[in-house]
Amino acid sequence: LASEFDLIARYFARPAPAGMLGVGDDCALFPVPPGMQVATSTDLLIQGRHFFPDVDPQALGHKSLAVNLSDLAAMGARPLGCVLGLALPRADEPWLAAFARGFHDLAGAHGCPLMGGDTTRSPHDLAISVTVFGAVAPGRALRRDAARAGDQIWVSGALGAADVAYRLLDGQLPPDAARLAGARRALEWPEPRVALGQALAGLAHAAIDISDGLLQDLGHVLAASGVGACLRYDAVPAAAAVQGLPPAVAVQAVLGGGDAYELCFTAAPGDHDRVLAAAARAGVPVAVIGRIDPRPDIVVLAADGQPLAGLPRGFDHFPAS
Ligand code: ADP
Ligand code: MG
Repeated sequence: LASEFDLIARYFARPAPAGMLGVGDDCALFPVPPGMQVATSTDLLIQGRHFFPDVDPQALGHKSLAVNLSDLAAMGARPLGCVLGLALPRADEPWLAAFARGFHDLAGAHGCPLMGGDTTRSPHDLAISVTVFGAVAPGRALRRDAARAGDQIWVSGALGAADVAYRLLDGQLPPDAARLAGARRALEWPEPRVALGQALAGLAHAAIDISDGLLQDLGHVLAASGVGACLRYDAVPAAAAVQGLPPAVAVQAVLGGGDAYELCFTAAPGDHDRVLAAAARAGVPVAVIGRIDPRPDIVVLAADGQPLAGLPRGFDHFPAS
């Protein structure tokens, strides 16, 4: 039976880039570009709560890092490296090989090498902890408390597919193989908007990544900034997987659906064209979905200008304090 050391050497140790001390010592060492601040974030993923026990391990390796890279993106930071903590109920080598492939492939794509971590056998369910480190110039990070009245509110990509996939897999929606086929990738292989976040640093005001749902995550920005928002539902890009669902289910998926890993951000209306150019450079579609108001409340309007019916429970009134 392989020891923890064998597993680490086989699946997680990779040659470190020049200037970095990677897996193998008591600490990793990595250079920070001169004058930059380090941005760091940790996410913990627990089997049964954050992923289904039978999820494709390669997708899980990808997503474990993707959700952390999404936090760097939401801050406007450039990835520097990451560390990985694993509590393993068993040493299933094909599983570990696939998990590591998904993890390292995304790490390589974003220049975020795995520098170290901790691996332990556990009598409990699988748990995965990833910490990322990034660099951002002082004063340029996209903070939650930086939204200003009059800002345009933007969102990247399209929303709702991951929520639809989750509800189909969980049996909350009736079986629909064609819809699941179109939605599943959004849930299992999210693409963190790292290039967009960096393109917006120093240009956008506030930003957040959508992990818990647009209204809830935007609510964090509004609370931190002491402002409110007015959104137009028909301006929020809905994923194709949402089309044709009952209106209440679609509204829940688009406005309340988690696991989207798109960016919601605010910027001065005068910077509208610069934001579009930055997004085009990053290769990501973005859309204006509303505006920041001084009054601390979220209002969502339907196409007819009336307050949208069927808002997810708890979102019909959303005090910022
Ligand atoms: P220590 O006893 O100092 O904690 P470990 O035996 O836990 O060291 O780890 C040995 C080396 O392997 C360390 O450099 C550690 O960072 C690295 N490591 C352990 N687990 C992982 C993992 N899952 N991914 C990447 N590196 C890991
Ligand atoms: Mg250790």
